[in-house]
Amino acid sequence: MPYIASVHRPAIGFEQGVKRCRLLTLEFAARTGLKKALRGALPSFLAMGALALGGCGAPAETPALTPRMEPVSAVEPLPEPVGTLHVHYLDVGTADSTLLQGPDFTILIDAGLPDRNEVVPYLTSVGVESIDLLIGTHPHDDHIGQFPDVLEAFPVSEVWMSGGIDTVQTLERAVKTLLRVLEPERRVDTSSTFRCTIDAIAASGAGYNEPRAGEIYTVGSSRIEVVHPAALTGDLNRDSVSVRIVYGEVVFLFTGDAGKDAENSMIARGHDLGADILQLGHHGSGQASSRKFLEVVKPQVAIYSAGEEHWLAGSFREAFSYAKPHPDVLDRLAAMDVEVYGTDRYGTIVVMTDGITYEVVLEHGTSVTKQNCARR
Ligand SMILES: [Zn+2]
Repeated sequence: MPYIASVHRPAIGFEQGVKRCRLLTLEFAARTGLKKALRGALPSFLAMGALALGGCGAPAETPALTPRMEPVSAVEPLPEPVGTLHVHYLDVGTADSTLLQGPDFTILIDAGLPDRNEVVPYLTSVGVESIDLLIGTHPHDDHIGQFPDVLEAFPVSEVWMSGGIDTVQTLERAVKTLLRVLEPERRVDTSSTFRCTIDAIAASGAGYNEPRAGEIYTVGSSRIEVVHPAALTGDLNRDSVSVRIVYGEVVFLFTGDAGKDAENSMIARGHDLGADILQLGHHGSGQASSRKFLEVVKPQVAIYSAGEEHWLAGSFREAFSYAKPHPDVLDRLAAMDVEVYGTDRYGTIVVMTDGITYEVVLEHGTSVTKQNCARR
């Protein structure tokens, strides 16, 4: 199979002329005392994590908001698999990027962190030449970080985002204003990873959509069922685009950083959430993967995407719900006999399937073969 290890190296900097956003993270905010100010003024901003500010070099435009893909009817027959699907869970640290490389379709869900550069090199190394569908589960840095690179490197037919653009732009403006007040000598050259992404989408000419729960699409021989969100709440994690991707009899579920509230909404709406392979929500943290949700999904294999967090050890790790993966989640999965693989431990993980059986291939470790037992 066309499979190599992911490439980790520092991102090429803004100063080197690449159209990449310069980061101004909360580390900077902490140094300047801004973090304290933000905590009081903008709690929802802090929940967004390291929102990046920087310059894209070009004025942002709102994408044309014109989808190319049309939803299909729920009664549309499932497409027949026509070859082997490789699903690559890239080792991108505590971030997400998953490539579904099928015989007649290519889908990329999320694209790592903006200060790293592994997604395009990996996609190139496995032979990707174009992307049918690029999904940004939500506009946080660890999910859309390398979207501008991806959009520049490959023709992309359609981009999906959760929406919430207004929220991000409002927060961006608020932060900019605060920076000007607190540090007037610093020239804040507007923008963020998100804004760079929007620019890149507009420049690429890709179709653009913000799909909602209940919509169903076919891309090549795969079927994509959107299971979340039904409507935006303004909480970017909670509003993560969540999709159930069906390839023959083998099913994958992706929920971005959606937490337990979102999981409860998915269950309450009555979506079929059953999946053989579940990507654990929110990088395996205790914010997601409730027992109830896991019992509904009934995965055979769970995969999380996270970096090593050696600083978070022992009882502190158990007490800290953001720990990735969280011991409680791992305990729940162990009790259900679900096999768990994480990119922190195994590197890039590839699931290969012909639509009937599947095999999990680990970059570091021993490969395992699983047979789909057609539970649904
Ligand atoms: Zn995340």
